[in-house]
Amino acid sequence: MESQGEMMDRLRTTFRSGITVPEQFRRTQLQNLLSLIKENEPQILEALHKDLAKAKFEAVLSELDIVANDIYCALDNLKTWMQPEPAATNLATKVDTCFIQREPLGVVLIIGAWNYPIHLVLLPMVSAIAAGNCVVLKPSEISAATASIVADLIPKYMNQDCYAVVTGGAEETKSLLENKFDHIFYTGSQAVARSILQAAAPHLTPVTLELGGKCPCFIYGRVHIQSAARRLAWAKFFNAGQSCVAPDYVLCSPETRDALVPALRQILEDFYGKEPRSSPDLGRIVSDRHWSRLTDMLQKTKAKVVIGGDSNQEEKYMAPTVVVDVPEGDILMGEEIFGPILPILTVDSLEEGIEFINRRDKALALYVFSEESSLVDTVLKKTSSGGFCSNDGILHMTLPSLPFGGVGASGFGSYHGRWGYETFSHRRGVMLRGWALEFINGLRYPPYTERNLGWLRWTACAKKDWFSCSVM
Ligand code: NAD
Repeated sequence: MESQGEMMDRLRTTFRSGITVPEQFRRTQLQNLLSLIKENEPQILEALHKDLAKAKFEAVLSELDIVANDIYCALDNLKTWMQPEPAATNLATKVDTCFIQREPLGVVLIIGAWNYPIHLVLLPMVSAIAAGNCVVLKPSEISAATASIVADLIPKYMNQDCYAVVTGGAEETKSLLENKFDHIFYTGSQAVARSILQAAAPHLTPVTLELGGKCPCFIYGRVHIQSAARRLAWAKFFNAGQSCVAPDYVLCSPETRDALVPALRQILEDFYGKEPRSSPDLGRIVSDRHWSRLTDMLQKTKAKVVIGGDSNQEEKYMAPTVVVDVPEGDILMGEEIFGPILPILTVDSLEEGIEFINRRDKALALYVFSEESSLVDTVLKKTSSGGFCSNDGILHMTLPSLPFGGVGASGFGSYHGRWGYETFSHRRGVMLRGWALEFINGLRYPPYTERNLGWLRWTACAKKDWFSCSVM
């Protein structure tokens, strides 16, 4: 069997040969990836069901179509993206040709997490292929069935000298990280992200970190409670709450909480029936360890469970659960919940809500529900987060036109559409000079004179007025 070192040599040799650079090669590989998704939909859905009991409806939208749409976006725009971008010149460089040339980075590593195990490896791969790179994929070992199908299908559809899959867990990833990559794109927890950065440092490898955190949902002012509850419940309990952009907790006034809880109770019954455990539309917790972490949180919380709360270890089931009276220092307000538990906290004013959000780490997504657009605008202006969506959850990340990524503790760098193409490209600043106007060059050669310095500064400076009176 090929060692990791041999695999890296093979990919690097391919990259140096230049075959990944032409537009047509990138297009063919993107088409192949599209065929992989389309021709293997039933097997992929089966693997996702095995790992997470993911309903077909959720899997098609959030794992398959989202990747296919990004491929279509890349195919439609690749020609434009690859064009050199003209750059402005000054008087001293007026006759030169200046532009920005996007170049592939080389051999890049994509490390995925388990909650959307197709989406989180294949979507960044679309960007990396579009940008002309060779790619090593490292799917999460926790979603084992999906990791195995990715490892099986990639060599069947994609050029094997350009794209490889490495399976395994922390140990395999650590040994992979000993190799020099030209970019590392990591999706996962903040804790592991620190060791990814450490592993990247000796090679000076640039890194994109797509992390999580606690995404607030601030419901304030005039709100249509039924619609708010429906949209909130969908965004929270999609994939059994195991979404990096799921609303982690709700902040609202005591009056809104009192109206929201009965609305959520009714809507959850509409969604999943009286017995959510038997609903085919509710996913399961990915592993025993993750199930125990969540049930432990529910045992230790000082908050009051008002909806759900029951669970079953054998099925890794947890009911959609809503809790109120949550102290700010509660266990549920520590780390990201990443499961089907929704705490509702109350604030007494808009400013108190904004202040609450701002004293915590910057979230991957911030949601504001209100019919008052000026209120939404105030929260948008006075806070910061990776992404922002008003009056809904998750949907902002479905558009390839919007950059998707974190800020502060929720990560750095972004992808989707053009943004992913940029992440996996180097922007090379190019100046093509001719041999004309040599007399202007004469100004910069020794022996240096004050007069020549004045002229040079004048030709290179945008603010001619300032120079004409202060220098010359
Ligand atoms: P995980 O356990 O699957 O780990 C992610 C990857 O890191 C896996 O491929 C795993 O093999 C590897 N890994 C684990 N330990 C490692 C180590 N010590 N050294 C090197 N590699 C290691 O996933 P997770 O970390 O539990 O992911 C959940 C987190 O990811 C949540 O915080 C969630 O919010 C975040 N997330 C973010 C996004 C996003 O797009 N920003 C998307 C999904 C999940």
